Amino acid sequence: MSEQQTDPAAISDRYEPAAVEARWYPIWEERGYFRADPASPKKPYSIVIPPPNVTGSLHIGHGLNDTLQDVMIRMKRMDGFNTLWQPGTDHAGIATQVVVERQLAAEGKSKADLGREEFVRRVWRWKEESGGTIIKQLKRLGASCDWSRLRFTMDEGLSRAVREVFVRLWDEKLIYRDDYIVNWCPRCETVLSDLEVDREERDAEFVYIKYGPLTLGTVRPETKLGDTGLAVHPKDKRYRQYVGQTLDIPSVDGTVRVRVVADDAVDPEFGTGVIKVTPGHDPTDFEIGRRHNLPIKTVIGFDGKMTDAAGQYAGMDRFDARKKIVEDMQALGLIDRIEPYRHAVGLCYRCKTVVEPLVSKQWYVNVKPLAQEAIKAVRAGKIKIIPRGWTKTYFHWMENIRPWPISRQLWWGHQIPAWYCERDGSIHVARTDVTSCPDCGGPVRRDPDVLDTWFSSGLWPFSTLGWPDDTPELRTFYPTSLLVTSFDIIFFWVARMAMFGLYVMKAVPFHDVYIHALVRDAEGQKMSKSKGNVVDPLELMTKYGTDAFRFTLVALAAQGRDIRLSDERVEGYRNFANKLWNAARLVLSNLQGYDAVAARRTQPDLAARWIDSRLQATIGAVRGHLKAYRFNDAAGAIYQFLWGEFCDWYLEIAKLDLYRSDEPARRLATQHTLVTTLEATLRLLHPFMPFITEEIWQRLPHEGDSIMIAPYPKPVRRRVDATAEREMGVVMGVVTAIRNIRGEMRVAPGMMLSAIVKPGPEAPAALVRANAPLIQTLARAAVTVAADASRPRNSALGVVGDIEVYVALEGVVDLGAERQRLEKEIKRADEAIAFGRAKLARPEFAERAPAEIVDKEREKVAQQEALREKLVASLSWVG
Ligand SMILES: [Zn+2]
Ligand SMILES: [Zn+2]
Repeated sequence: MSEQQTDPAAISDRYEPAAVEARWYPIWEERGYFRADPASPKKPYSIVIPPPNVTGSLHIGHGLNDTLQDVMIRMKRMDGFNTLWQPGTDHAGIATQVVVERQLAAEGKSKADLGREEFVRRVWRWKEESGGTIIKQLKRLGASCDWSRLRFTMDEGLSRAVREVFVRLWDEKLIYRDDYIVNWCPRCETVLSDLEVDREERDAEFVYIKYGPLTLGTVRPETKLGDTGLAVHPKDKRYRQYVGQTLDIPSVDGTVRVRVVADDAVDPEFGTGVIKVTPGHDPTDFEIGRRHNLPIKTVIGFDGKMTDAAGQYAGMDRFDARKKIVEDMQALGLIDRIEPYRHAVGLCYRCKTVVEPLVSKQWYVNVKPLAQEAIKAVRAGKIKIIPRGWTKTYFHWMENIRPWPISRQLWWGHQIPAWYCERDGSIHVARTDVTSCPDCGGPVRRDPDVLDTWFSSGLWPFSTLGWPDDTPELRTFYPTSLLVTSFDIIFFWVARMAMFGLYVMKAVPFHDVYIHALVRDAEGQKMSKSKGNVVDPLELMTKYGTDAFRFTLVALAAQGRDIRLSDERVEGYRNFANKLWNAARLVLSNLQGYDAVAARRTQPDLAARWIDSRLQATIGAVRGHLKAYRFNDAAGAIYQFLWGEFCDWYLEIAKLDLYRSDEPARRLATQHTLVTTLEATLRLLHPFMPFITEEIWQRLPHEGDSIMIAPYPKPVRRRVDATAEREMGVVMGVVTAIRNIRGEMRVAPGMMLSAIVKPGPEAPAALVRANAPLIQTLARAAVTVAADASRPRNSALGVVGDIEVYVALEGVVDLGAERQRLEKEIKRADEAIAFGRAKLARPEFAERAPAEIVDKEREKVAQQEALREKLVASLSWVG
């Protein structure tokens, strides 16, 4: 036992979160509590953080994601595991490059002015200076990452891992180069993977063009210049005679030459049943073109402008060209009709520019064989996805996976380790830089592209642990235990880690994947800058304290349900923190003369046995919930115990003993129960509210240097006391019944009442009689126990299970006035009920009002009905 602090002045009246948070975090960090030790004999438990963008700052999603991880890692650390929470940041290709490009633009420069090397140096400098923001903010959140192991996707080790995997995949022919139609962002000048293209419904025109003997519709008339074929369905009799023919079609720019092909991809029901094939500018057409050997004609360039192949339209913006071509075709009588049309348009997820499908040489990973393994691992239960519903989504995506384009036309990132021979065009992919062609000795040029950011973050679970070297960290902490992530990156990231982990390490990267929901605003709206409803986690932490912020997120993190965050919620849990603080003050200011050794010899009374039994049950429940990742239930169990049982009941009962000097043994026993219960509860709560629990724990008698390395409570089965719970249930029931009557009859809190308790078979007279003094004090009512009592005239009735409680009202309330008041209130309730029911009966309300408003109205009516029932009962007491 460390030295006791029993001076009540040692704890301030109010909980000041900012001061406490600023004091403890550096102490924990300096003492090395966050550090993982690969040599430790303890059982390992590891989590890799989803690396935030190095450009980023903490948003509410991080707040939730990292709080959940911290809850798990702190709990496991206390539970005796050798824990590693591996931190790091992601270089975030486009995002970071854009930030620095903007800086340059402000100086009137472009990245071309600097040249590649200088530009990349400039990005590194920016990263060193400004890239640490999010790390500081994670510390503010209380995240207990092992910061001595902080990694960055572009640091030396991770870059080596990227190169090694690239070379292996290339050697095994799983990486290849190919002409392919890609999603191209003309603004960002880079290829985008399918996942990086957002779809948005937009209005457009469907233009029916006279096409020689045929008429066909298109939303993209500007690509007509790139047509090299026409396609019909093989079974479509209308066009059978044209199949195989080459037609010269009069067009705006002379004629276009197209070959008519029959292909199953054509829907004969859609439009005229004929489509023009533009292999250079449409993914479906590209595939059709491949199948029928149609030439590719590129009329729109990488800059989004028409190319020389577009003839008189060369140099025009693609959208201007669309208008102009329609006008020109109209003038030539080539347009049959134009109809309005609504369709999904692909947009760059970053800059919202309309994506242009373009053919270019790109690097690909053939992920199909990798995906097979990743599917098997989940099927076999080696990776468990929680909630289970996401498993289906995972399978669906994995089973339909397409080749992954991994090259990006950026400067910031892992440059592809491939060199082209200038003399013979041969490609050389290598672990070390190539300076001359290994075949002919000729000069070489390195591929300028970099890899998709997700390529490096896909290696995160093992690259951060030292792979490709065989490190103690890798041997100890891989596979990791848990991955906590948001559902929106399940494909970007989780799927790729699963594929790469199995491919490289021959073992799953993590055993459990917990997928959490989205944090929305109080109305359930998605937070967005344009709506102006974005909540800043740092502001909330400043205003209400980090513990309250964390607890709110955890308490709302129900599986499969989005979180609706409001200030009131956080305020509510700030009150919870204050409640805990005040409870601790009460305990701490009553520890004079406390002797832990002597206290252990005292006998616990009913209340002490009860609160201890409740504590054991709560510990069991919290552990069970955390094991199943029911974070909200875990938080709820602690909240209910601490506030609803410990503060509301046990502290009230304990006060009676604490203020008695005539029975020192009872005082000591109560001190003991208070100290041990509060101390254990703090440990139970620590992973959720790390700061306030440490602050209080340090002042209580305790063992060890910090709560964060103290043992996580384990339930002691023999201390679960069903008898004590039942008996205290009776006591609390009777007290509550009398308190309710006092409230309903508006009797002053200080006024002593008199009550007759009629026990039943379940709660015999002896039990009630033995606890009558306790009931009397808590309920402020003189209690008589009478087995054969019946309700006296002018008394209120309370029913608790098989017990009846009669509270005398004669002389306590003015019966006449009370009768009048109750009648008036019943009338008011009747009116409110009638009003609410009428409103709900109106079809325009019930059907058109938002479901929430209707629910609220229903709830109001139900409340009034319950109130009315109570009022009617009360009226019968004073009648
Ligand atoms: Zn873009
Ligand atoms: Zn060569």
